[in-house]
Amino acid sequence: MTGRVLVVDDIPANVKLLEARLTAEYFDVMTALSGEEALAACLQKAPDIVLLDVMMPGMDGFEVCRRLKADSRTVHVPVIMVTALDQIADRIKGLEAGADDFLTKPVNDTALITRVKSLIRLKMLTDELRMRSNVGRDMGLEDAFDPLLFSQELRGNVLVVDDRRSSSERLAAALGNRHALTIEPDPQQALFRATEGDWDLVIVSLDLANFDALRLVSQLRSLDRTRMLPILLLVGEDDRVRLARGLDMGVNDYLQRPVERQELCARVKTQIRRKRYADSLRDCVQQTMEMAITDGLTGLYNRRFMQTHLDQTLEQALRLERSLAVLICDMDHFKSVNDTYGHDAGDAVLKELAERMRGSVRGVDLVCRYGGEEFVVILPDTELDTAGIVAERIRSRVAAEPFLLPDGRTLERTVSVGIGALQAPTDTVETILKRADAALYTAKSSGRNRVVAKAA
Ligand code: GH3
Ligand code: MG
Ligand code: MG
Repeated sequence: MTGRVLVVDDIPANVKLLEARLTAEYFDVMTALSGEEALAACLQKAPDIVLLDVMMPGMDGFEVCRRLKADSRTVHVPVIMVTALDQIADRIKGLEAGADDFLTKPVNDTALITRVKSLIRLKMLTDELRMRSNVGRDMGLEDAFDPLLFSQELRGNVLVVDDRRSSSERLAAALGNRHALTIEPDPQQALFRATEGDWDLVIVSLDLANFDALRLVSQLRSLDRTRMLPILLLVGEDDRVRLARGLDMGVNDYLQRPVERQELCARVKTQIRRKRYADSLRDCVQQTMEMAITDGLTGLYNRRFMQTHLDQTLEQALRLERSLAVLICDMDHFKSVNDTYGHDAGDAVLKELAERMRGSVRGVDLVCRYGGEEFVVILPDTELDTAGIVAERIRSRVAAEPFLLPDGRTLERTVSVGIGALQAPTDTVETILKRADAALYTAKSSGRNRVVAKAA
């Protein structure tokens, strides 16, 4: 992963140092030597993240952060405050100014790269979501996006795996009123709970008494249910090597003991936001995919999807020497519904027809809207005479009960059905559909409201 990092510090030597380390990790680095310069660079060069020194003459880091977070053009750029060691008051001030995370001078390499990566990932997700949200809005899909997602206060479900009572109590005190915390001292039990629950974050102590925490990390990363779950490690000061292993295994972030409250809150918040954004992006992709393959009016699969599906179904039937049948159903005199009762009434009839068809077939059968008032049903593993029974079931369900119109009136309607089946190894999708279509034509010309399997 790469990204654009803006490094802001009034001392050129500090800037050079961070620049060298970040460049070595292939980040694209820009620099600024004052608050004013930093604000200008944020507007002109759109960095993905800002590393901001707190102590600067003139406009200090807090003020720069406040201004970035108050401007709608820069509010989504994550800010890491670089503070002097042990300046708790500075961190509280930083959080109040809207900072996303902290680094302490002298800046440690692992900390620098981990924080920058973690926040750039979050920024990329946010950017993608915002873009899709705009596209969705343009397409009239506002409901697809939860505006709460972009608000600052997210309540997360956090699983804490820590067997030290004093430690987990400290976490609970810091996070307990903002998030729902579950503490599980037993790592085996924790794995079980992690796969069963709906979590936003797992916090794992790296120094569990009788268990290698990295094993738990590796298990969490390999199971489907927890693969994407953010993991935050709690590490002791002398555990550099195992921390590096953990980060290699996909741990998202870490906190050094003794855990500092502001850091804890900031990092937990970042991970929960990232998890929520990722979830919502996935839902959105799923929704877009569904939109691409289904028909908006009836919710049935559309013609394009049917074509692909039928190609595969036929290929499989030929390979396994199985049977295959296809129905084309067409409502009789549908045009007169529109002409007499209006287009909305026509739409309502089509929706109801789709429902009745869906309810007349098995789960493996695929009903799709082929065009206007024409529907295709694909029946895998089905012989011609069985297909005839299904077709007759559809026909009689349509004829048996009148359709309800939006204005409360009812309307008697019928359908004609043509059946085509796989007959020879040389058959193609086109020949089978053509057979069904010819049969449908016969059904129409011989009086409608009937099922025909063979063209006259
Ligand atoms: P036939 O018995 O020969 O099938 O006659 P028909 O009137 O059903 O067939 P025709 O193909 O002449 O007319 C189909 C009509 O379906 C014409 C078109 O306006 C209407 N139609 C197509 N799509 C929709 C839709 O989404 N909503 C509505 N309300 N009408 C549609
Ligand atoms: Mg028709
Ligand atoms: Mg028609």
